[in-house]
Amino acid sequence: MTRLWIKNPLGVFTADDTPDAPDASGGLVVENAVITEVLARGAEPSAPVEEVFDASQHVLTPGLINTHHHFYQTLTRAWGPVADAELFPWLTGLYPVWARLTPRALELATTVALAELLLSGCTTAADHHYVFPPGLDEAIDIQVSAVRRLGLRATLTRGSMTLGQDDGGLPPQSVVQPLDTILEDSARLVRTYHETGPGAQVQIALAPCSPFSVTTDAMRESARLATDLDVRLHTHLAETLDEEDFCRERFGMRTVDYLESVGWLTDRTWLGHGIHFDDEEISRLGEAGTAVAHCPTSNMRLASGIARVLELEDAGVPVGLGVDGSASNDASTMVAEVRQALYLQRLRYGASVPVHRALAWGTRGSARVLGRDDVGVLAVGNQADLALWRLDELRFSGSHDPVAALVLCAADRADRAMVGGQWRVVDGRIPDLDVDALVAEHSAAARGLISG
Ligand SMILES: [Zn+2]
Repeated sequence: MTRLWIKNPLGVFTADDTPDAPDASGGLVVENAVITEVLARGAEPSAPVEEVFDASQHVLTPGLINTHHHFYQTLTRAWGPVADAELFPWLTGLYPVWARLTPRALELATTVALAELLLSGCTTAADHHYVFPPGLDEAIDIQVSAVRRLGLRATLTRGSMTLGQDDGGLPPQSVVQPLDTILEDSARLVRTYHETGPGAQVQIALAPCSPFSVTTDAMRESARLATDLDVRLHTHLAETLDEEDFCRERFGMRTVDYLESVGWLTDRTWLGHGIHFDDEEISRLGEAGTAVAHCPTSNMRLASGIARVLELEDAGVPVGLGVDGSASNDASTMVAEVRQALYLQRLRYGASVPVHRALAWGTRGSARVLGRDDVGVLAVGNQADLALWRLDELRFSGSHDPVAALVLCAADRADRAMVGGQWRVVDGRIPDLDVDALVAEHSAAARGLISG
């Protein structure tokens, strides 16, 4: 048994919003995988520690949590033909490229995204993988291996598309799958990989892509299977007005009515984006406890709209943050997403939206979105998932409040990150990962994908 004291941080944000939240200015004691003490400045650990990490040059936060991504899209970042497009033309331009995805390319893309996330202070990540061209049946298995290799936690979703162009959907027929195949593979993945309880590393969720790329049957059967298997449900919803028009034309109803009609308006569900809701829909989502992954950078890049985050939260909707896929962000820099969320929401609600509230979206809020209560808050009994940030770069010089500086001065790199008591980032690097070799091979795979 080892006890580590992360001692006297320069600044600390615990994300603990309980009324009797302890003062953490003296740091934390980590015993094996778990936080066992939160200390006020000047307090000593209750028993001797084997190791002390002097955090006097670091800001301490929970590990950030990313609730929406498409790792495979790191292969199609900043691709010229869709650099200036909105969602629907952006998708129809990219689908034929994504249809050429191979197992090795996905492995590289997943590793790149996970490494970027980890280096930007993220310790738990969700991915939504819905592209299964022939030969890529084991996409999620490949992702599980990459997650285990890098040591983060992940909620990997078995995505799906069943509504191809021949039937009035957006994706080409070559990437849609029969519903039976999807359900069978989903059940296999849950049985093989899904962990439950505190400290789970890999979780599986079911994730039909969006109303315009899956049939009503696929939505309904996925909800049924998720209930049977007791796993979470994820999809894109209310991202653009084009999507709302599609739902009205095809289903004769708005997005939330559609969601309810297929059995998804529950606290098992989290939605990517969730922008275009009216007042009544916001209260229905809140009553149901349906969660939203807010993706500010993607929403700005594709000009999709501004999510009503404060109203969603005030109605009881759990809200977290997502960088979204790398073809619409195009970076997986999790800490930067906190800043983007703060500024986009200030544009909607005014400059009084607190810095701490944005940090809470990326930590405590995101944990709730993924259905977890063991991470996202630095508190006794929680997993020791945390990030440590140095402020000795040019960009922070002259800053005063260390926690505010992280967000306002645009931090992009954690100096250290710990997952379940294990250091996964040390001195701004991932031990045992050859980043130069990874970038070389990933870039070559990206060029190969574009040239076909
Ligand atoms: Zn997305």
